[in-house]
Amino acid sequence: MILFDRVTKHYKDGTPALDDVSLTINPKEFVSIVGHSGAGKTTLLKMLLAEERPTEGLVFFEEVNVHDIPANLLHHYRRKLGTVFQDFRLIPNRTAYENISFAMEAIGKGDDEIASDVPYILDLVDLGDKAQHFPHQLSGGEQQRVAIGRAIINQPDVIVADEPTGNLDPVNTFEVIEILKKINELGTTVIITTHNKGVVDAMGKRVITMEKGRVVRDDPRGHYIL
Ligand code: ADP
Repeated sequence: MILFDRVTKHYKDGTPALDDVSLTINPKEFVSIVGHSGAGKTTLLKMLLAEERPTEGLVFFEEVNVHDIPANLLHHYRRKLGTVFQDFRLIPNRTAYENISFAMEAIGKGDDEIASDVPYILDLVDLGDKAQHFPHQLSGGEQQRVAIGRAIINQPDVIVADEPTGNLDPVNTFEVIEILKKINELGTTVIITTHNKGVVDAMGKRVITMEKGRVVRDDPRGHYIL
């Protein structure tokens, strides 16, 4: 379970990016966080990833206060959270296969495991036939599906996706969302931020709406209302 307990974040001098935010996210939920630009969505994700510290309040992941984790153990904690970004962040001179296998190599997985897991994940993200393509040979949606493959290859508990469809056309958006839904149905918690009304409304899942650093709506079967 993820718990935000009265979390406030002030960046230097500014108005609060988060203002007394409390919420829980249970395992296997699919949560969309919506709100205007500057509402605090990315800051909320950064708190969970322990990339920023709260000014006040606590963030727990499975009963661990994430901001108490010593710096030398943070990489271990972050393996529980697969991240996906609007701009994909793939390695340009590595193939789809290598972008995903690299994440396994980075945590010391052996060749046999890599050789069996990467094709499985490429199939899961519907890219079995594009394994040897480089990012520039893939559409935006395909690149994002590689990034999702990379995010899930080490079996995180949670996928955290910040505007994953922000750079995609409607067809690619649909495909990326279908993959995220599938991953969620297989048991991974998924948290996305989005501006896409169509995505949120089609999902029929929990929607947290933020405004000026506060949670103003939290609806278990929500719609996109701003
Ligand atoms: P969103 O993701 O909803 O667009 P953010 O979490 O990025 O919102 O930003 C919330 C507020 O915090 C905004 O007012 C933004 O300008 C401010 N902010 C975000 N990151 C920083 C930072 N590193 N330093 C100072 N202010 C920041």
